[in-house]
Amino acid sequence: MEKKKFDLNKIESKPLKYFKGVGEKRAELFNKLGIGSSDALLRYYPREYEDWSKCISVDEAKANAESGEICCIRATVSAQVRSVFLKGGKTIYSTRAVDDAGKGFRLTFFNNPYIPKMLIQGSEYVFRGKLFVGKNGAEMTSPMFDGGDCNKIVPVYRSTEGLPSRQIAKVVEQVLAELPEDMCDPLPAHIRAKYKLCHIRYALNQIHFPDDRETLATARDRLVFEELLILQLGLLRLKGRQRGAAGVVLERDFTDEFWSLLTFKPTNAQVRAAREAVRDMMSGERPMSRLLQGDVGSGKTAVAAAVCYTAAKNGVQSALMAPTEILAEQHFRSISELLEPCGIHVGLLTGSMTAAQKRNTKELAALGMIDLLIGTHALISDGVEFASLGLVITDEQHRFGVNQRGALAAKGKNPHILVMSATPIPRTLALIIYGDLDISVLDEMPEGRVPIDTFFVDSGKRQRAYNFVKKHIAEGRQGYVICPLVEEGENSGDLKAAMSYAESLSDGYLSGCRVGLLHGRMKGAEKDEVMRQFAEGKLDVLVSTTVVEVGVNVPNAVIMIIENAERFGLSQLHQLRGRVGRGKWKSYCILISDVRNDATVSRLRTMCKTTDGFAIANEDLKQRGPGDFFGSRQHGLPDMKIADIMTDMHIFTMAQEAAKDVLHDDPELSSRENAGLAEETERLFDGARAMN
Ligand code: ADP
Ligand code: MG
Repeated sequence: MEKKKFDLNKIESKPLKYFKGVGEKRAELFNKLGIGSSDALLRYYPREYEDWSKCISVDEAKANAESGEICCIRATVSAQVRSVFLKGGKTIYSTRAVDDAGKGFRLTFFNNPYIPKMLIQGSEYVFRGKLFVGKNGAEMTSPMFDGGDCNKIVPVYRSTEGLPSRQIAKVVEQVLAELPEDMCDPLPAHIRAKYKLCHIRYALNQIHFPDDRETLATARDRLVFEELLILQLGLLRLKGRQRGAAGVVLERDFTDEFWSLLTFKPTNAQVRAAREAVRDMMSGERPMSRLLQGDVGSGKTAVAAAVCYTAAKNGVQSALMAPTEILAEQHFRSISELLEPCGIHVGLLTGSMTAAQKRNTKELAALGMIDLLIGTHALISDGVEFASLGLVITDEQHRFGVNQRGALAAKGKNPHILVMSATPIPRTLALIIYGDLDISVLDEMPEGRVPIDTFFVDSGKRQRAYNFVKKHIAEGRQGYVICPLVEEGENSGDLKAAMSYAESLSDGYLSGCRVGLLHGRMKGAEKDEVMRQFAEGKLDVLVSTTVVEVGVNVPNAVIMIIENAERFGLSQLHQLRGRVGRGKWKSYCILISDVRNDATVSRLRTMCKTTDGFAIANEDLKQRGPGDFFGSRQHGLPDMKIADIMTDMHIFTMAQEAAKDVLHDDPELSSRENAGLAEETERLFDGARAMN
């Protein structure tokens, strides 16, 4: 890391174990939440707040009891706590409390021997919980309560087992108490003045322990502004580095020639998209910067191949980057099959190739003897050089961080850029993420696709579902079984579960079938091997985790069972389901779930109703809310801690303006005034993680 240029009077970065109540063990738990030190803790903003400041009367709470909402009631305990011992060792503690108006309600607690000591007859408390009105009148079961002065809004942090939110709050309190009086604010004073933003010290205090709703809003606005300003600064600087003269200019459009190589007829949308891309590259004005957006199965790969073919025919080298090895391999297989016979050399580079294979490929690419290099993010590693990289394509671009996309482009000299995505992103948001960029949409599915039928059943129908799979296998087709298990970071108990489930399937429901297992913990080469066997029809069923979610294309697979379907979001289910219905056969998707809550049922019903990715994305947006929907998985931007790109649009506009002004006066962010911003920008983009 670069040495600090300025001595900023900043928040000290102190290991958490030096704070009261935090030992080695608890520090470890903080670590698990991604909080390694005191400064990170300050930026660990509450997930939500409990408002203890608005108490209502018992009558009001009764009138609103139907809603099941949590409320606060200030009341005096009017009787001694009684305990009743139940069979099985349980104890119920109960008492009564009355509010100012003399209206009373019952309080019940289970198995908490401290209750009689904590609730004193004649003392006043605020009780926070749900009020039920039953046969015996109003009652609160296991409410939280506080006796002190509790006119306050209490932060609720995302917690983990052994480290409840209250514990986190106690440490935050200590860190806040140590903030220097004259602490330096990363936002320069003139920006704070112009946009009427509060000082960082005030903002941090109020975001954790707000005095009231208003001060909380003031703090939040300021922190959102700061975060979006830094995001915008980072994006502008990345773009600035890439800006430059026109890329290589293509002479001729060869896309029609390419389409004639295919066994199928391209859709009008594919023809149009490829032509738009080639036109960009022939214009000679500036390098192409285009997003190709198309629902799963709309045929984006063929468009990419058409564009690469045209580039190669014009003597221009290109690179195609995919987020997983499976996908890179698949693209390599299908594209090289088409292009090699035309004398176009296609290479593959992935992390799991042997050192010798990699070296060989790199040499050929550097010599310009590979026209199109396909690979994973191995393409952006050091030592990969291109003779003259003129076109860069990123598939499923949202899986990459912004800096990864930039890194590939940096291997060429102002190359043309095409990014492909299945996520329908609103145009306004796309412009923010990609800056000034053109969009082609594949709004048409290839001909002859038979719509996928989707069913939602409970586990009682599992046997029938698997019989249905076997029927299709008997007809020569293949299928997927998706289990929501074994992803990076999940515990090994789950790993065993998926593996033993795969085994039990081949002995049980799928006896007699050739069953393969694919999961994220397998080595690249192992994954490829299983995938290859499946693609070649040597396996009938692939039991897989969500690693098949992205891009996998085996048209002979016509049926998919999704176990524990409730554990997936709508967009993810849509991506998964997109693995079937890719050929000429009727395809099916069976969602198995026993969860019956409204949100789940509505989600799974939506899947049964429509296969339209745009409709599903809209529904997803409605059900999950924008913050969640446009998480980093969708756009590859660094994770936002507090800002919500959709709902904080008005702040974003201001931050955009501020970012332009700052960079106009100080393009390198090298002044003392901007030192804090420079540091934060660097930190945000360093932290942008590689997604794979
Ligand atoms: P995605 O847009 O999800 O990346 P793919 O590019 O993987 O979709 O294409 C899905 C399948 O459709 C592939 O098997 C591909 O060969 C086939 N395909 C693409 N375009 C057409 C077309 N115009 N007609 C018929 N099949 C097509
Ligand atoms: Mg694809």
